[in-house]
Amino acid sequence: MNTIQVMRQFQDDKACMAFLCEIRWKAKMKCPYCNGGNISKHQEKDRRDRLQCSGCRKSFSPTVNTILHKTHIPLFKWFLAISLLSEAKKSISSRQLARHLSLPVKTAYSLSQRIRKALLGTRSPLLKGIIELDETYIGGKPRFPNTGAKRGRGTKKTLVVGMLERGGSVINQVEKQYRKKQVRDMVLQNADVEKSSFYTDDYGAYNQIGRFAPHESVNHSMREYVRGDVHTNTIEGYWALVKRAWYGQHHHYTKKYTPLYIAESSFKYNNRKLHSSEVFNKIMDACINS
Ligand SMILES: [Zn+2]
Repeated sequence: MNTIQVMRQFQDDKACMAFLCEIRWKAKMKCPYCNGGNISKHQEKDRRDRLQCSGCRKSFSPTVNTILHKTHIPLFKWFLAISLLSEAKKSISSRQLARHLSLPVKTAYSLSQRIRKALLGTRSPLLKGIIELDETYIGGKPRFPNTGAKRGRGTKKTLVVGMLERGGSVINQVEKQYRKKQVRDMVLQNADVEKSSFYTDDYGAYNQIGRFAPHESVNHSMREYVRGDVHTNTIEGYWALVKRAWYGQHHHYTKKYTPLYIAESSFKYNNRKLHSSEVFNKIMDACINS
């Protein structure tokens, strides 16, 4: 859903609350405290509309126990933030978000990080078919390039590993190291190995994949990048998107927060074929139900 649609549809808290109820409970509202189903609307002075459970007599909002719990930011700004974030293919900086929403930069930062955290909780189904495996390193270029700072394997940058199903989804993890064990875990936990074949580069830790499933590699160290159908160009194209978000929007994020930014990139990639309103609803669902 683009920002104009959001502004039209969610002009006030009432409209936002109704939508949150629908996303959270579908047709049947339930009390988050006692699970009771007898809920009525309730208005407290100077507060947002609230819901009241006739079982335990507690009043609550559809945001209780979600990332929007007790937020002081108007709900329509949350909705706009989700729309802006979902529409920005190469992500959006907190400063940009702050300008769009007339919020302090710190608030915009905390809000966008909470949305990313919700996306981190979404999981893809097992990958199958032709799967490319690769890894990349996130971080700036060496400040003094001639001092022996390494690029690629052996660098101090943040290591991100990925598996991408051609025509399908990508799964990423931030790792401290990427040796045999991590490769094996990655493959066995995230792919349906009986229905898959794997393409990688010539990194030695990938050789073991042949024990679980068909595996072919291209010899990057011998400057072989494509051999017929065997290549890792699809996942490398995806890394380019991740890196453009780094260079173009955020400029820097610490290792600790890398999983959040990667979760945003992979979520967008995995839902790239959906209509923007479906993507918006999916992010809402992650924010409310995870
Ligand atoms: Zn109750």
